[in-house]
Amino acid sequence: MLRAGWSMTKKARPKVKAVTPWARQVWRLAYSGEPWPKSWRVEWVGFMRGALGLTLYRERRVLLSLGDRKRHNPIATLVHEFIHMRCGPSLRHGREFQSLERAALLRVWP
Ligand SMILES: [Zn+2]
Repeated sequence: MLRAGWSMTKKARPKVKAVTPWARQVWRLAYSGEPWPKSWRVEWVGFMRGALGLTLYRERRVLLSLGDRKRHNPIATLVHEFIHMRCGPSLRHGREFQSLERAALLRVWP
């Protein structure tokens, strides 16, 4: 998740559009040579209160806020969620997380 204090709105769930192929292209830039994590999907959702993106570990899904995509670059949000995907819930937001995120972003936007 990219912002604290999120909650999913009831309207957000049905408005789902799969964007996994686009996400996989970004993944290739961030982690060239590393295969896409098995059975993970990325989807747009209409709006998530207080969150730009959300990683659902058990469902292997990443949700990105369609409503925020013009104010915040969704690629940056996606790369943030990639760190969650790769490292799992045990890696909290903090210095290590930020340094992994920065390094991945530099590979996406050299
Ligand atoms: Zn996060």
